[in-house]
Amino acid sequence: MTTIQEFHKKSIEQPDAFWGEEAKSIDWHKPFTQVLDYSRPPFAKWFVGGETNLCYNAVDRHAAKRPNDRALVFISTETDQEIVYSFADLKQEVMRMAAVMQSLGVGKGDRVLVYMPMIAEAMFAMLACARIGAIHSVVFGGFASGSLATRIDDATPKLVVSSDAGMRAGKAVPYKDLLDEAISLAEHKPSKVLMVDRGLDKGFNKVEGRDVDYATLRAQFMDADVPVTWLESSEPSYILYTSGTTGKPKGVQRDTGGYAVALASTLKYIFCGNEGETYFATSDIGWVVGHSYIIYGPLIGGMCTIMYEGTPLRPDPGIWWQIVEKYKVNVMFSAPTAARVLKKHDPAYMHKYDLSSLKHLFLAGEPLDQPTHEWIMGELGLPVIDNYWQTETGWPILSAMPGVEKTEIRFGTPSFPVYGYNLRIFREDGTICDPDEKGIVGIVPPLPPGCLSTVWGDDARFVSTYFSLFREPQVYSSFDWGIKDKDGYHYILGRTDDVINVAGHRLGTREIEEAIQGHSAIAEVAVVGVADQLKGQMPMAFAVVKNADHIATPELVAALEKAVMKKVDESLGAIARPSRVHFVTVLPKTRSGKLLRRSIQALAEGRDPGDLTTIEDPKALEQLQLALGSKT
Ligand code: ATP
Ligand code: MG
Repeated sequence: MTTIQEFHKKSIEQPDAFWGEEAKSIDWHKPFTQVLDYSRPPFAKWFVGGETNLCYNAVDRHAAKRPNDRALVFISTETDQEIVYSFADLKQEVMRMAAVMQSLGVGKGDRVLVYMPMIAEAMFAMLACARIGAIHSVVFGGFASGSLATRIDDATPKLVVSSDAGMRAGKAVPYKDLLDEAISLAEHKPSKVLMVDRGLDKGFNKVEGRDVDYATLRAQFMDADVPVTWLESSEPSYILYTSGTTGKPKGVQRDTGGYAVALASTLKYIFCGNEGETYFATSDIGWVVGHSYIIYGPLIGGMCTIMYEGTPLRPDPGIWWQIVEKYKVNVMFSAPTAARVLKKHDPAYMHKYDLSSLKHLFLAGEPLDQPTHEWIMGELGLPVIDNYWQTETGWPILSAMPGVEKTEIRFGTPSFPVYGYNLRIFREDGTICDPDEKGIVGIVPPLPPGCLSTVWGDDARFVSTYFSLFREPQVYSSFDWGIKDKDGYHYILGRTDDVINVAGHRLGTREIEEAIQGHSAIAEVAVVGVADQLKGQMPMAFAVVKNADHIATPELVAALEKAVMKKVDESLGAIARPSRVHFVTVLPKTRSGKLLRRSIQALAEGRDPGDLTTIEDPKALEQLQLALGSKT
């Protein structure tokens, strides 16, 4: 049997042989003539000359063989809907949508901005774009007008596909109003807006000559037969903006053939998902996990995918497990934040259902702390696999790969570099760290297939943003800190700009957070660096307690704050001790579960917190302000 090390080594040393073999997993209209063209570093072109199509690989080829098998299950616990689409149904719906888009003048290379809730039509729209060679740019439906406007101006779409409203925890979010405002703010004006009217926001404003109704147009194209537009492997499939956690979002441009091959390979080697099985990713189509593992990945592999609109807690915290039982889900993908949310509820909700179909649970998007990892793996009784990646890469960089070798799962680590990624931990002078030495996670190019091919419309920004870490060697920077231990397991220690500089000592926020999380009363914590006249910066902690009893009186608060500080002293030394530990009931996070660190830090320093439109729970801000106001 091949070991992970041998497998990885082959992918790096013989990329042509390795990826040439993997490319057989997808269907090519025209074979490629060269596996990799790396004549213009750091720009890599994969499967040169090959022609293929993402929609064909995700839909048509399965519809031809297994038309009646399940392809998509759309479930909304917000609107009480549950609709099952076979591969034949999916193909027909995609062709209807594609015909409507063509009737609105959309063709190959045109951008289509998708600003939609988690409904099946959003998937039809994305696949329809892929089918006709249009480039989709999905903007997460939680973004408000300002953020949406910048993305409209950057992608300059011909068409916007949207909906009257999204639903979240029983409340309608008026997408159409946000979109209208964004278009008025933007310099670029899309010529058409295709509206999927869910009837949730009865009175939305229709702009004459621009807005068209999807249901009306669809009715004209019920039997549409829209042929696939074949694309050269490197032609763009989509643009997706990074989450913007650390600054101006970057428009990640993805290719076509490389992406399809990479995703197909991950189903085999990482996710262990087979044709005919079911994949449930709880992310949102607005994020990269949604693109790769709600839509393209599972479908390319001939799996049924579950698209879920709703929260993990409604109607009760058992809802996800109920879905796993009902549809015999084999592979599940979620985020650490969801695991932490579930951890606050009775595990009986999990044990009520038959989860025997499930092989693994994958978690990604932010650090998975050890206690949560251990808890969820214990409760589920199956491997829970932390995997590390970025919008830029489109698929995991670090992960266990049970499809290659069943390695031991250790808590707090996303295990090993995935095949294709020549990953190293670098010192700031460009040399390579020793085991257990902290450094910057970098990838020696070429980046493997499926990773960003450039920044949309800005090749110079692609090079200057990602490849200018050192003058020599040329390395892709992840902007994350990491460590490789003696056994080859990797640990991600937070972002390079999350470093706190205390009197000349550089501390990672993640390390302090891990230390604090080690205290049994703490459920969740965020640490930020706050300007300090004396020391430059001081860490400040905002912690959520497991049980409100811990902070029932001012005496208990003071005692717990002291105990938490002591915990930090013990694990990292007094230098890392936070100046304050504030207790709150909820932390400000994006809907994808990322801590809004920049905003926390800005507030703690009395500055403007910036764009907060994607915040999950506005209560978190009030609490933060209250805590800061009353205690600093
Ligand atoms: P921006 O680049 O615009 O600031 P972002 O980096 O938050 O936004 P994403 O691409 O969605 O946007 O997130 C990728 C980042 O998330 C990684 O660089 C890393 O910091 C973090 N991350 C993802 N998965 C993990 C994981 N398993 N463990 C630790 N951190 C993770
Ligand atoms: Mg990033």
